[in-house]
Amino acid sequence: MTQLPLKSLEPFAISSSSSSSSSSSIFALRRGAIAPFSYLLFSSIHHLPSLRLSIRTTSTVVRAMASHIVGYPRIGPKRELKFALESFWDGKSSADDLQKVAADLRSSIWKQMADAGIKFIPSNTFSYYDQVLDTATMLGAVPSRYGWNGGEIGFDIYFSMARGNASVPAMEMTKWFDTNYHYIVPELSPEDKFTYASHKAVNEFKEAKALGVETVPVLVGPVSFLLLSKPAKGVEKSFSLLSLIDKILPVYKEVVSELKAAGATWIQFDEPTLVKDLDAHQLQAFAHAYSELESTLSGLNVLIETYFADVPAEAYKTLTSLKGVSGYGFDLVRGTQTLDLIKGGFPSGKYLFAGVVDGRNIWSNNLQASITTLEALGNVVGKEKIVVSTSCSLLHTAVDLVNETKLDDEIKSWLAFAAQKVVEVNALAKALSGHKDEAYFSSNAAAQASRKSSPRVTNEAVQKAAAALKGSDHRRATNVSARLDAQQKKLNLPMLPTTTIGSFPQTMDLRRVRREFKAKKISEEDYVSSIKEEINKVVQLQEELDIDVLVHGEPERNDMVEYFGEQLSGFAFTVNGWVQSYGSRCVKPPIIYGDVSRPKPMTVFWSTMAQSMTKRPMKGMLTGPVTILNWSFVRNDQPRFETCYQIALAIKDEVEDLEKAGITVIQIDEAALREGLPLRKSEENFYLNWAVHSFRITNCGVQDTTQIHTHMCYSNFNDIIHSIIDMDADVITIENSRSDEKLLSVFREGVKYGAGIGPGVYDIHSPRIPSTEEIADRINKMLAVLESNILWVNPDCGLKTRKYTEVKPALLNMVAAAKLLRSQLASAK
Ligand code: GLN
Ligand code: ZN
Repeated sequence: MTQLPLKSLEPFAISSSSSSSSSSSIFALRRGAIAPFSYLLFSSIHHLPSLRLSIRTTSTVVRAMASHIVGYPRIGPKRELKFALESFWDGKSSADDLQKVAADLRSSIWKQMADAGIKFIPSNTFSYYDQVLDTATMLGAVPSRYGWNGGEIGFDIYFSMARGNASVPAMEMTKWFDTNYHYIVPELSPEDKFTYASHKAVNEFKEAKALGVETVPVLVGPVSFLLLSKPAKGVEKSFSLLSLIDKILPVYKEVVSELKAAGATWIQFDEPTLVKDLDAHQLQAFAHAYSELESTLSGLNVLIETYFADVPAEAYKTLTSLKGVSGYGFDLVRGTQTLDLIKGGFPSGKYLFAGVVDGRNIWSNNLQASITTLEALGNVVGKEKIVVSTSCSLLHTAVDLVNETKLDDEIKSWLAFAAQKVVEVNALAKALSGHKDEAYFSSNAAAQASRKSSPRVTNEAVQKAAAALKGSDHRRATNVSARLDAQQKKLNLPMLPTTTIGSFPQTMDLRRVRREFKAKKISEEDYVSSIKEEINKVVQLQEELDIDVLVHGEPERNDMVEYFGEQLSGFAFTVNGWVQSYGSRCVKPPIIYGDVSRPKPMTVFWSTMAQSMTKRPMKGMLTGPVTILNWSFVRNDQPRFETCYQIALAIKDEVEDLEKAGITVIQIDEAALREGLPLRKSEENFYLNWAVHSFRITNCGVQDTTQIHTHMCYSNFNDIIHSIIDMDADVITIENSRSDEKLLSVFREGVKYGAGIGPGVYDIHSPRIPSTEEIADRINKMLAVLESNILWVNPDCGLKTRKYTEVKPALLNMVAAAKLLRSQLASAK
């Protein structure tokens, strides 16, 4: 089979000096040293002489149609930034060391793009933590609790905002649109004053320039910045964030002027909120902001970049009527309507940055199909006005396929990570201008064809079974209250039954045992006996604590999705396919490449073993289809719902095998169901319908006496409560304690919930041990809105990240609180 030539980022060794700073001896010397906090955030220019590169500028490359990259992953091909950050935070390395790693990463990225021939190379898409936090520091939008007294913001203030410090908690973090990236939410109030407090954008532009690379500095646009912020604590909820626009624009003007002075010729404003349902007032603010900036921007080419969906018609009109803008960037992968909008009218003389290479996934581009799209667009806007681009920042995909040593060649030929996507963008641009790399295109076509016809992708039986599910309904035959009665007869649980969410603390020893078994360093026999011992410990502890419905503790699982993916067909796993989730945290999503099926039972062995150790009910523990889907890189050759139905069928087999093996309570976690909600209201119902349907498929076949639990890790489900009821689980456990019981308000407002429900009674994200009184108080608040016969008592989420010294007393108090209330309820009768 034909192999795609892998072009890639060079393995992180641009300067010879960079390797020495990470040698263990130097780290050992510095261990325990306190990191100097006086460093300015982005003063890395002093590292440059050693990094000077012989970068070919675009002029030495074949003159091509222009190419552009929206943004690039900053974590590094082997998570270099993660390790540098964590070492710095632990006081094991200096600010200088961290800045050096960062500068090396930036220069290798710029070099890679310049070498590939990319014309519009972004700068300021690097970040030590998050680009929204960078924008907040640029504007001096620092909440007063961090004690900033003006001046250029350094690591101390910056990381305190991101992560908190000994005396002040971190700022809130939330999901970046519908990605798994999380940004820091700026807190704003009407009295805020803004000043230019971080020169990062200008410094990075200059840094690239000193390396011989002309870049396009990227800023989070002023409107998106405000719309992604929240009113500070104590500020009226009705406060309009957009009313601050005229206060932040002067800072944007300063930044723009400095960039101009430094020699920038283009500037990119990311305005992704334009793809959401903005109202007329918000669109007006948008038009106002850019007309206000117009005179400062004159002399610069301005690109407004949008991504993650198409721009609604009204917003498109506003956007394309702006004066002083030279180009618009659109996501042509997710933006299904964009082509029609553009065909309906595109301002003449402007550039269209056509995002045809998918920044959200790991599949190689269908180059021929992209050429067809680009040519069609060229016919509308003029061929010379097309700039080939990525659909969004490559931040949301894995970094470099070249580091994948475990994937086989066939699967590898189907993939493109960020480094490979850069090459694709440029190949498309060259082809459009008549310099098609025939060999590259034909190996791409061969890979596309092999993916289409590979027997590893298609499993006709699965296709058929999944297709049969569409448009049908799957529900348990008996209604939930009758089921709960039947289950209670069998389980005989006390009032306010206690349980936990599944995992128990994961010790170093446990991780080692799993690692050694995977590396075949210990025998299966030894592995099984270690895990068995651990399960036994967890079971005994729960019996001692007098918990009613037990769990086995999940000691055999590394990750709730990976564990199942590894046992299902149709999944592949990378070794370095990390994607930044927040700060230094990364996730490594499995790749779903083929039809999903379950060759054999996945959890029955461990669950029955655990059940045999106790007379109390032992919960079977599964991850639900929607969560497996949402936390994986999914196929782009069939709709998401089809893949989800396939996973649902596999989980259904597992549910039924557990039931047959005598497990009477089965929990199917849907931690990520809410995350998959589309960005636009008009698409929500479609998603919720197939997502909820998929969940019901997994358990519609069980007996009335089998109790189905589900668990969700978020509290703001008020807007999707009807979908949650429609999941028709017997019991739902859900996060609650961090949100001041926001969750309970929905029941206060009269929503009827007849199934069992366990709003978390304490926060497992914190090491704090809640007292019995505190938990009893929480339960009492729940009893004020929920019937006592449906209420369960459990923590917010799994206990995997906690220590036994925290878990034991916390659960002890939890059970005590449940008992206290049981006796109060009994005497009140
Ligand atoms: N059962 C899983 C656990 O307890 C659930 C994890 C989650 O909700 N994220 O760890
Ligand atoms: Zn959870």
